[in-house]
Amino acid sequence: MDIKTLIQRAESTHRLSEEEILYLLQAQDADESLLPAADRVRRKYVGDEIHLRALIEFSNICKNNCLYCGLRAENTCINRYRMDEETIFSFAQKAVQYGYKTIVLQGGEDPAFTTEVWLRLLKRIKTLGLAITLSIGERPFEDYRAFKAAGADRYLLRIETTDKALYEKYNPSMSFENRLRCLHDLKKLGYEVGTGVLVGLPGQTMRSLAKDILFFQELGADMIGLGPFIPNPQTPLKNAPAPVLGPALRVMALTRLLLPDVNIPATTAMETLQPNGRILALQSGANVVMPNITEGDARQNYALYPGKAGAADSPLAFREKLAAQLTAIGRPISTGYGWHKKKIY
Ligand code: SAM
Ligand code: SF4
Repeated sequence: MDIKTLIQRAESTHRLSEEEILYLLQAQDADESLLPAADRVRRKYVGDEIHLRALIEFSNICKNNCLYCGLRAENTCINRYRMDEETIFSFAQKAVQYGYKTIVLQGGEDPAFTTEVWLRLLKRIKTLGLAITLSIGERPFEDYRAFKAAGADRYLLRIETTDKALYEKYNPSMSFENRLRCLHDLKKLGYEVGTGVLVGLPGQTMRSLAKDILFFQELGADMIGLGPFIPNPQTPLKNAPAPVLGPALRVMALTRLLLPDVNIPATTAMETLQPNGRILALQSGANVVMPNITEGDARQNYALYPGKAGAADSPLAFREKLAAQLTAIGRPISTGYGWHKKKIY
């Protein structure tokens, strides 16, 4: 197989077989053609604008025990916090003041956030005119239905890996079938659905990453967040090999080639691994940034992994720095909601 021919075909047809994706993922010298091709497809299908989503990390309490995550229930070394409803609402108000059109409410699966709490919050926040993204884990169909009716527009739930055995090894309190059920329920209910995977989990193969990309197509995902896995010293995966950015960027670029019109964030984990990781991602297929507007101790204590980029910045300082970086690469900040606009291809 010839790398350039494959990439040209992916750029024009947006189709590749599992074997072809695998070949490109394994070809170390593919990046110099692959990343610019993803950048061209991004420009053609979703334009130059960057969509900003303000991230509010409302609780770091979680009933689950994902082996890779610092928020896991059995981690006793972390300072736990939970925002009350008033605080969450005031962050949503700040998001409006800062000029954001979308907020992402993300947290651990914290049992204090019952269906009733979310319904009250969603209805209240909706009055602010924001598009609301939830990233609050696995819930029953009825909850997802009620949240949608109360004003939730989008939902982020990574599949983490499509390798069922690996998924269940790393998420001991969860089942792969239920994860899939949640994603399909969310699609059925008309949410804009974001999913994605961790890249670089110990035991994860390149073939499984190729299958992940095909899964995004099959699901009809609207948004795809890919993060390099960063080992956390407070978790059972603390001795995993040091993470690198390359494979995550490559998976992201291939994802853009095969799902040309979706929204793809340049993730914080990418910036954490490399100081210009975010910009590199925005020039290799990404078109979204999710600035963290959480303030105070919560900003430090939402510690999924060590060294999280931007944890020491204030929300406004971060936004100014980001605006300057985006201007420098000629990418305007969108003033719209940044919905997934489906195109025919
Ligand atoms: N609890 C919700 C869930 O799991 O969907 C939302 C919050 S969870 C912290 C958000 C994402 O963090 C997960 O989907 C996972 O991919 C990512 N994450 C957790 N630990 C990580 C690590 N060590 N390195 C990189 N990303 C990590
Ligand atoms: Fe909880 Fe999400 Fe972390 Fe798993 S990844 S432990 S569900 S916060």
